[in-house]
Amino acid sequence: MEITIIHKGENDIHFLLEGIDVAFANALRRTMLTRLPAMSIDEVLVLENTSVMYDEMLAHRLGLIPLTTVLEDYNMPDECDCEGKGCSLCQCTLTLEKEAGDDDIMVYSRDLSSQDPKVVPASGDIPLTKLAPHQRVIIEAYARLGRGVENAKFQPVATVAYKYIPLVTVDKSKCTACGDCVDVCPKKILRLDGGKIATQNTLDCNLCEACVDECEPGAITIDSKADSFLYRVESTGALPPKEIVTKSAELLKERIQVALDFANSL
Ligand code: SF4
Ligand code: SF4
Ligand SMILES: [Zn+2]
Repeated sequence: MEITIIHKGENDIHFLLEGIDVAFANALRRTMLTRLPAMSIDEVLVLENTSVMYDEMLAHRLGLIPLTTVLEDYNMPDECDCEGKGCSLCQCTLTLEKEAGDDDIMVYSRDLSSQDPKVVPASGDIPLTKLAPHQRVIIEAYARLGRGVENAKFQPVATVAYKYIPLVTVDKSKCTACGDCVDVCPKKILRLDGGKIATQNTLDCNLCEACVDECEPGAITIDSKADSFLYRVESTGALPPKEIVTKSAELLKERIQVALDFANSL
């Protein structure tokens, strides 16, 4: 198996995984989505809320704020000594206290203050509710680790997708260099270079086959590699994208080992 990183940003990563089959590719994708834990607000105590937004709606919105997560710092509640009752080893408290003066104000995720500076909203710009003059909210919220399989709010990824690696081939003996394929390609993969057709950035090809339909002599073939996949992983901001990939790969390995141990014990 070979891994090549194509792009690494603050919140996203694109990489090429070669030498695997589609079942493995999908297992890794689903591990990132549903098995890798992240922090999220799970219990909310509304001490005061005179805004027009119902307490339940406010609690729901708080739960959907991605929180920065350090996996080593917290226990999963069901693995903690407190047996899920909630303690400082498995829970982090955030508070929100905001009151409007004589003008309307918007309450944002940045107004939450956390007892742990490492567990804070990944973005401070998420609007929570609007307060009319002299309305007030006072809230205590409890965040904990959870998995996407339990609730999508715990997913550390906004999106994780993979696609086959495109193979764009031009049969030069058939090509008349008419240039028609260049104009129809939405991804600008094909170009005329010195009277000949050349390809560029083929990883961007979306396999639409518009070029094949346009090419009268049938000079273009679009195919894909069966054992290679291009992943695009976008973090919610809960975890760095590289950590999402490495930790998910470790988790998948552990789960495969459990299955192997079981099979060996039969
Ligand atoms: S449409 Fe076909 S024949 Fe025309 S330039 Fe493209 S590959 Fe060549
Ligand atoms: S399949 Fe679509 S995206 Fe790919 S080279 Fe052809 S026209 Fe462009
Ligand atoms: Zn605990």
